[in-house]
Amino acid sequence: MAYEAAERVHCLIIGSGPAGYTAAIYASRANLKPVLYQGIQPGGQLTITTEVENYPGYPTGIQGPDMMIDFEKQAIRMGADIRFGLATKVDFSKRPYRVEIDEEKWIEAESVIICTGASAKWLGLESEQRLNGFGVSACAVCDGFFFKGKEVAIVGAGDTACEEALYLSKLCSTVHMFVRRGEMRASKVMQDRVLKASNIVVYWNTEPLEVIGGQKVEAVRVHNKQKDKEEIIPISAFFVAIGHQPNSDIFKGWIDMDEQGYIKTISGTAKTNLEGVFAAGDVQDKNYRQAVTAAGSGCMAALDAERYLSALESI
Ligand SMILES: Cc1cc2nc3c(=O)[nH]c(=O)nc-3n(C[C@H](O)[C@H](O)[C@H](O)COP(=O)(O)OP(=O)(O)OC[C@H]3O[C@@H](n4cnc5c(N)ncnc54)[C@H](O)[C@@H]3O)c2cc1C
Repeated sequence: MAYEAAERVHCLIIGSGPAGYTAAIYASRANLKPVLYQGIQPGGQLTITTEVENYPGYPTGIQGPDMMIDFEKQAIRMGADIRFGLATKVDFSKRPYRVEIDEEKWIEAESVIICTGASAKWLGLESEQRLNGFGVSACAVCDGFFFKGKEVAIVGAGDTACEEALYLSKLCSTVHMFVRRGEMRASKVMQDRVLKASNIVVYWNTEPLEVIGGQKVEAVRVHNKQKDKEEIIPISAFFVAIGHQPNSDIFKGWIDMDEQGYIKTISGTAKTNLEGVFAAGDVQDKNYRQAVTAAGSGCMAALDAERYLSALESI
């Protein structure tokens, strides 16, 4: 691959969500002089939410964007070099590894920490986007608590949708679950649990057409394909559980991933199959997808990078 390397760094961090900034804090304090590229969403997914109540250390909760400004400030105070820019290509064929930024310049890095996150898939309804953060959510564990004792809806038919429906059923009075087809993709055991739950109502062959509400979610309008009938169901929240897309395209072919594109890490570490390349946060975690777990794995990645670089220096 022809390129002109502009700069060489010890530790390059790609992504500025909880994983990236935490990695930057730890890497700075270990004197790795990390350079972090923020990508097109500085602060990551939490910048598109409102209240975060489950991140330890904020006893009265905090707005997601404010929390990520705190993360950034802390990383800067520790000495991290935070830059606006997007990693557009990588060449991991040999060390130092090379990462192209904004299709313009190449950076050489002794170690790379990938924290590019994952993006929730949405139905694509205008009303869904307008009410996002005001009752529309892609994360039951994050936002279910705000709707304790209320009627809510969820759309999806996979294992995650079933898991989230069951989670909500323990908090909410009724969970209306919309399944596009006459069957679910979820495993039999998950389907059985959903169908047995007394307060989950499954609507087969049913698609949401519109989330109704001015300032917050008030109802959902759905269409039953089999009966060709529309119905309006009053709800307080609308959860979308149709999957996530890990932001890992540029690393395809260079490091091991599962069939959905989640980066594989060696259990109990942030190491990928390539020495010196680490991954943290949602890009390698389809199970938990929480800010605190992303931050925890960012810490692991920085410590793994520090140990890797120390071992290299001692050779
Ligand atoms: C609406 C919403 C509400 C949520 N609420 C909560 C909550 O209350 N509590 C909770 O614990 N969790 C919550 N979550 C989940 C939480 O936001 C994620 O688990 C967490 O942000 C994952 O952190 P991350 O660092 O892995 O990645 P992300 O936050 O996804 O950040 C990814 C970063 O990578 C950058 N990036 C991507 N590609 C590139 C590239 N090519 N080059 C450079 N940078 C790149 C992006 O710009 C971004 O900065 C919520 C999520 C959503 C969507």
